[in-house]
Amino acid sequence: MIFVLDEISFRNLLHQWLNSYKIFVPEIFDGQKVPNIAILNKEKLERFSLSVFENIRVREPLKAIFSLPKEKVASFGNGEDLEEREKVLLVGAKVCDLRPLAVLKKMYLKEDFVFEEFKERLENTLIISADCPYPQDTCFCNLVGLKPYCEKDIDGVLPDLNLSFVDNKILVEVFTERGEELLKDKIGVRKEEADKEILERRREIRDNAYFTLKKINEKELKEDIKKKVLEGEKDFWDKNLESCVECFGCLYVCPTCFCFLLSDYKVEEHYERIKVWDTCYHPMYARVAGGLNPRAEFYKRGRNRFHCKFSNFYSDYNFYACSGCGRCFSVCMGKIDIRKILLSL
Ligand code: SF4
Ligand code: SF4
Ligand code: SF4
Repeated sequence: MIFVLDEISFRNLLHQWLNSYKIFVPEIFDGQKVPNIAILNKEKLERFSLSVFENIRVREPLKAIFSLPKEKVASFGNGEDLEEREKVLLVGAKVCDLRPLAVLKKMYLKEDFVFEEFKERLENTLIISADCPYPQDTCFCNLVGLKPYCEKDIDGVLPDLNLSFVDNKILVEVFTERGEELLKDKIGVRKEEADKEILERRREIRDNAYFTLKKINEKELKEDIKKKVLEGEKDFWDKNLESCVECFGCLYVCPTCFCFLLSDYKVEEHYERIKVWDTCYHPMYARVAGGLNPRAEFYKRGRNRFHCKFSNFYSDYNFYACSGCGRCFSVCMGKIDIRKILLSL
């Protein structure tokens, strides 16, 4: 079902959702082209412009909502239970934010390993995605098999609702029962079923966005890119990664990077297990007991990142562990554009 709402009705919805959820939204500051993630409150809602949902993805990777950069994941010896989770509403997620959730689900919800905190947060979070009518030059979701709008589940991740902004109206598409509940019995919300005309306008806007993306990224990745990334030799990786200063920014900001490190600490009379995000560019990442390190040279670590995202993950799950969000080269001091490397393979 697709409903048409006016701006006042949508604001009334947000207002009422605030009574039950912690709401994350994009927020843009003067002069910025890319929004940041922010927590909405009633005061902020007064001056909140809905046009922010038409921007590209936020700067931060949304994995930080589901797997905190640093967190306690276990406590021994003091009988402490995990804290109760708040109900979260994530409004304005992009398609390039949904694939990363699919990657994290594959990694953290396995038969023989379940990352409990992630599972609980995922269950407690409702997701409202939003179309991208204006892709920017950092965007390349089209090269990794995605489109800048959500029509169905993305690799197994289905948002509860989806927003499309069409000529001052908001089209709200309901994908799940939880999404249906979000719209039920709300005060001051006028919603009509979308007619053929407005759906055609949405189609036009979506096609234009996809066309813009294709113009930004004219050249397609080779079909056998998953094999090509395995073929690059030392010289290729040395040359393409030579401006890297090993700051690890590209990996911390990448929404699909899922590695973490666990350490146990004694705190007074009990022990705590702390999880922190890890990065495979770190020289110590692959070192084993006895000091051997299969990826001691940087080109091997750089190459491993590409193997992981474009070959190994694809072979196991049939989609890339990359969503084309462009965050990695937006933060790169060495100006290394992952697209250029992939296209030159
Ligand atoms: S990469 Fe695609 S989905 Fe992501 S912000 Fe850009 S256009 Fe939108
Ligand atoms: S952000 Fe750039 S400079 Fe930093 S580790 Fe990544 S590739 Fe290297
Ligand atoms: S590798 Fe770069 S473009 Fe791909 S998901 Fe990670 S940050 Fe986004």
